[in-house]
Amino acid sequence: MTPDVLIVGAGLIGCSCAYSLARRGLRVMVLEREDLASGASGACDGHVCCQSKAPGPHLDLARRSRNLYRALAEELGGETGFRQCGSWMIAETAEELAALEASTPQRQAEGLDVSLHSGSAVQAAEPILASDLAGGSYCATDGQTDPWRTTLAFHTAGTRLGVGFRLGETALRLLQDGSRVTGVETPAGCVEAGAVLLATGAWTADLCAPLGVSLPVRPRRGEILVTEPMPPLLNSIVLHAPYVGQKLHVDGERPATLVLEQLEDGNLLLGSTRSYSGFDARNTPSGLASIAAEASRLAPALADLHIVRSFTGLRPASLDGLPLLGPLQGFDGLFLATGHEGDGVALAPITGELLADGLTGAGGWAPQLLPLRFSDT
Ligand SMILES: Cc1cc2nc3c(=O)[nH]c(=O)nc-3n(C[C@H](O)[C@H](O)[C@H](O)COP(=O)(O)OP(=O)(O)OC[C@H]3O[C@@H](n4cnc5c(N)ncnc54)[C@H](O)[C@@H]3O)c2cc1C
Repeated sequence: MTPDVLIVGAGLIGCSCAYSLARRGLRVMVLEREDLASGASGACDGHVCCQSKAPGPHLDLARRSRNLYRALAEELGGETGFRQCGSWMIAETAEELAALEASTPQRQAEGLDVSLHSGSAVQAAEPILASDLAGGSYCATDGQTDPWRTTLAFHTAGTRLGVGFRLGETALRLLQDGSRVTGVETPAGCVEAGAVLLATGAWTADLCAPLGVSLPVRPRRGEILVTEPMPPLLNSIVLHAPYVGQKLHVDGERPATLVLEQLEDGNLLLGSTRSYSGFDARNTPSGLASIAAEASRLAPALADLHIVRSFTGLRPASLDGLPLLGPLQGFDGLFLATGHEGDGVALAPITGELLADGLTGAGGWAPQLLPLRFSDT
């Protein structure tokens, strides 16, 4: 059968899109060169946070996505690991606190349930944190999910709706008939489709280059340390305030900013670094040392824990931190769902819904989400 939509990439974004499209009655096929969640979606934290998003379209998307997460496990009929545990954005210095204070009214005006607290209140809420923090902001409705189980839940629900997953099959190039993209060539032959949706994360620019398009999406490496399993030590997600600025800066600003979460099985994830290092997905001694140093200073109780492993993922980074969602202009039948940088887990459910609405003509394309931001490259 010729699918209505051929999705390339079975990370969290591709699987979410596959599910949402199939739920609207479209025939969907997914091509993945490795396995489910073998890219960034299998090498990341699971923060579903709104208070780390810039007010405006980013925050709006994050809130809508977080609301979808609440009912997702029931809807998909499979565990996602989502829980609404809240998040702390911590300020180490008076300067960091002043920045949090300055941004809070606008975030509250946009409906975010965020509140400011003293350093002692932060430490009382999360005793593993340092006692001399300047303060922090708390968002009770933020949460965490398990990115791997969420991908699997989308996959299982999509399969139930008839999505065909072809794992271990690489899309070598896009097929064209004039300006129309008609399918994809793989080592097994050509796959024709009504539309092609690229959910290929950090690798999306490679598939677009032969079209003469220089897509502004590039890999941004992130490293994470994993501790031994511990009894509950952390109640919420913890983000160090400079994390937000680091996302928008190029390399060199800070080697790492601390983010913390505790998984259901007790391991703590200590993240993370940000660097543009091409497709090199190896851990670096300096990156891991920077995370450990940040953790020991901001959460001294962690200094005695054993690190049991580390891992690295490649975030699909766009120019301005916003994802590229929608049709690629100049090419009929070609759509993008990529460029989510460090937010693809949080934004996966809303990405699937927006792409499905757009592809079925139900939602149209919000102007700020169109992939128009090429001129800056
Ligand atoms: C260290 C780290 C921490 C993070 N923490 C968070 C967090 O807490 N919260 C959050 O919201 N986000 C987080 N992220 C970001 C999040 O992981 C990504 O935004 C998200 O996983 C991107 O999903 P994706 O499906 O677009 O890409 P990927 O998961 O990378 O999937 C792309 C898939 O496409 C496949 N593919 C590529 N090219 C081809 C081809 N030619 N043919 C066939 N298949 C192909 C790849 O094999 C891959 O499986 C983090 C990322 C990192 C690295």
